[in-house]
Amino acid sequence: MLIIKRPRGTNDLFYESAKKMSFVQNEINKIATIHGFSEIRTPIFESTELFTRGIGEETDIVSKEMFTFLDRGGRSLTLRPENTAAVVRAYLENSLQKEYAMNKLFYIGSMYRGERPQKGRYREFHQFGIECIGSSSYLADVETILLNVAILDSFNITETELVINTVGCPNCKPKYNQALRESLSSEKDNLCETCQVRYDKNILRMLDCKNPTCQEIIKKIPTFYDFVCDECREHFDGLCEELTRLGQAFTINPMLVRGLDYYTKTAFEIQSSNLGAQSAILGGGRYDKLAGMFNNGVDVPAVGSAMGIERLIFMIENEKFIEDRLDVFIIAFKETINHVMPILKRLRANNIKSDFDFDLKSIKSQFKLANKKNAKYTLIIGTDEISKNVCKIRDMDSGDEKEVSLDNIEKELKNK
Ligand code: ATP
Ligand code: MG
Repeated sequence: MLIIKRPRGTNDLFYESAKKMSFVQNEINKIATIHGFSEIRTPIFESTELFTRGIGEETDIVSKEMFTFLDRGGRSLTLRPENTAAVVRAYLENSLQKEYAMNKLFYIGSMYRGERPQKGRYREFHQFGIECIGSSSYLADVETILLNVAILDSFNITETELVINTVGCPNCKPKYNQALRESLSSEKDNLCETCQVRYDKNILRMLDCKNPTCQEIIKKIPTFYDFVCDECREHFDGLCEELTRLGQAFTINPMLVRGLDYYTKTAFEIQSSNLGAQSAILGGGRYDKLAGMFNNGVDVPAVGSAMGIERLIFMIENEKFIEDRLDVFIIAFKETINHVMPILKRLRANNIKSDFDFDLKSIKSQFKLANKKNAKYTLIIGTDEISKNVCKIRDMDSGDEKEVSLDNIEKELKNK
């Protein structure tokens, strides 16, 4: 029995699954670049305080899901559970505003959360994230949403729903919170335990409570849209109008919130019924008040989103992953082995995907391996052939064979 196994909630990726992960990440990188975004890479661990401040002490992530440890110097570090706070930190620390007034950044990387593992929920998982930092225009929100949609489209993921909402700003949020408190005061005792705490501490967060009783109670509350200030209303209307102009379908869900104080104006999610219980493929929103928390209150308007790559891969039809065939598998004998590596070197220098069996078992087993590796051609190097300075090229699909001069292998294969 294996004594040491991988930690709970993590995955080993190899062969197909590793290929899918790379393929998807490369595609995402390409599409983000087409949209004028630049990649940002930040450390996998950060000071714990970055997340406790940047995500909020009372959130599920910070209160129960972080992998936190002390380094040898006694400093508290945390494996990143998400990347927005880290990107904003990097933006400020490297004065990226000096480069461009508006920074369009994206990242692809692993995140860590100590959650109960289940389908679509792991302890180590990958996110593709977008952060547009430096603009308060609703067009930045549109751009963030459109890039996500373009990625889903490129993988033919169509059964999705874009849900948006506005959560106001420090001007109007308190009025809405007050209205919520008043409308719920008579029901407070009927709320779930968590929501009773939220009622006092962070009442907005109640809106996405999954408890059926709370959901029933919440149905009757006033919607945020009736309380937003003029600026927030204009922003939201502008966003909705632009999405409509672009033919981008969306629904407004007044219950969609991002519960933290620094979230402002836009909140959005893209959901899919194909994902089952874990229905959100990505979530995002505007966070105009986040930079100020690391920067003595100097705010920088920003909007972003994060998509779960494992959930994305789960939704991509297998056909979308290109069939990946080996071009050539070389079959040789003990007597001809010295010819193999020089030929391989030439083939590979010509971008011909090629391989062979180091251990040179029987011809039968070499052919078996060529088939398993789905080779288009085998190149047979026997003693007879070598004496004539040729080799045999066999088309593995049709079975046709042809003798080719050893000097012309690359040319012959490239013509095929
Ligand atoms: P959920 O409601 O599913 O817990 P969340 O609100 O915690 O999601 P975000 O923090 O907004 O999710 O993360 C954005 C996306 O990252 C999610 O929509 C999901 O696709 C993905 N994601 C989040 N947590 C996990 C996880 N533990 N394993 C795999 N993917 C995840
Ligand atoms: Mg979660």
